[in-house]
Amino acid sequence: MSKTADVVIIGAGAAGLMCAATAGYQGKSVLLLDHSDKPAKKVLMSGGGRCNFTNLNTTPANFLSANPHFCISALKRYTPHDFLELVERHGIDYVEKAPGQLFCANSSKDIQQLLLTEADWAGVKPQMKTSVQKVNTTADSVQLTTSLGKIDAGALVVATGGLSIPTLGATGWGYDLAKEFGLEVFPTRAGLVPFTLHPELKAQLAPLSGLSCDVSVSCNGQTFTEPMLITHRGLSGPAMLQISSYWQAGDELSLNWLPHYALQKNSLVEALLQLRQNHPRAHFSSWLAEQLPKRLASVLISLFETQGIKLPERNADASNNQLEALAYALENWTFKPAGTEGYRTAEVTLGGINTQQISSQSFAVKGLEQIRFIGEVLDVTGQLGGYNFQWAWASAVACARSL
Ligand SMILES: Cc1cc2nc3c(=O)[nH]c(=O)nc-3n(C[C@H](O)[C@H](O)[C@H](O)COP(=O)(O)OP(=O)(O)OC[C@H]3O[C@@H](n4cnc5c(N)ncnc54)[C@H](O)[C@@H]3O)c2cc1C
Repeated sequence: MSKTADVVIIGAGAAGLMCAATAGYQGKSVLLLDHSDKPAKKVLMSGGGRCNFTNLNTTPANFLSANPHFCISALKRYTPHDFLELVERHGIDYVEKAPGQLFCANSSKDIQQLLLTEADWAGVKPQMKTSVQKVNTTADSVQLTTSLGKIDAGALVVATGGLSIPTLGATGWGYDLAKEFGLEVFPTRAGLVPFTLHPELKAQLAPLSGLSCDVSVSCNGQTFTEPMLITHRGLSGPAMLQISSYWQAGDELSLNWLPHYALQKNSLVEALLQLRQNHPRAHFSSWLAEQLPKRLASVLISLFETQGIKLPERNADASNNQLEALAYALENWTFKPAGTEGYRTAEVTLGGINTQQISSQSFAVKGLEQIRFIGEVLDVTGQLGGYNFQWAWASAVACARSL
């Protein structure tokens, strides 16, 4: 027997649940389908289990997209304060970890529960473990062949997300469907993802596994000053995750190990010259061990030696050229990552459906109003810091309000 609904939404993740609740409150009959066993699995895993659910300082500049203007309208119409108001209405405790970055004080489960409660109040219950085999369109409706049987709907909203973390239910279904309808899908790649290292550098950094330090890292015109974590597999932590979204295979990363000098507009060369004058009998390694964790300072000294920057026993014997080379190496240490950890651990997928073909008001495909795409499946990817969920909420609400 076939079912009917005003709207069918595929994907009961962040965007799908938000869209379902908003459409349900508007009196639409909504069927929310997902092939996974549980809804909003990524919400549960997010923010280290505490879901960084929004960022109060969200602007379009926090997103990567070939069409940077596309996100402006939706972000304006549903702001971080709108979502925060919902969080407060549900009595969820939250904390601001870094400026603007809001996390659950207790658990990501609070946001998952908020989404399920909102959907429930709006009359929508996610149908899990449901697959969609076929989508056909007529002039003003959509017919779906699913494991629940045939479904006739006025509109189809695709909220199947990106490719990151397949074990959490990620598939490329949304991209494939977009291609079936003749839409352009930009090549995808893992973003907000740790880097892997070539064996030699990996072995040199291995003794530092577990160490975190503030760095500035730059690539392709972007710089992030945040903590970096050295792991037994490579480099992670906010600085590396952020820059990974701007990195392409084969690119070099440039790392500043002492970012506070540049931040405070102090010259590192001047500081080293001063040090030579004030402590002629000491060695620069003792100074570096005061600037950085001791273990890191000693590994860096050996790393620099392999690059030909060897300092004499006494500061007094260092030439100006040697000090300049040391300052340069500390502020512009470049290396080529071997690659990234890929979709297995990436927080997001870069690329996706070309938004030039999508209405920024309704999220409908231009010329095919009954098919809509929201959330991460589109070529809009946030930086680290709660922006990706804000995009999920904003695109979902904009789409639902125009159904
Ligand atoms: C480990 C981790 C931590 C993160 N932490 C944060 C954070 O703290 N803050 C932040 O802003 N962002 C975070 N993100 C990113 C954020 O989770 C995503 O950007 C966001 O969930 C995207 O929402 P979405 O609804 O578009 O897709 P998703 O939330 O991925 O939902 C897609 C849904 O579609 C379903 N689906 C997929 N294929 C099919 C199919 N073929 N048939 C039926 N259903 C299908 C999936 O099962 C899933 O339920 C994190 C991501 C990861 C992986």
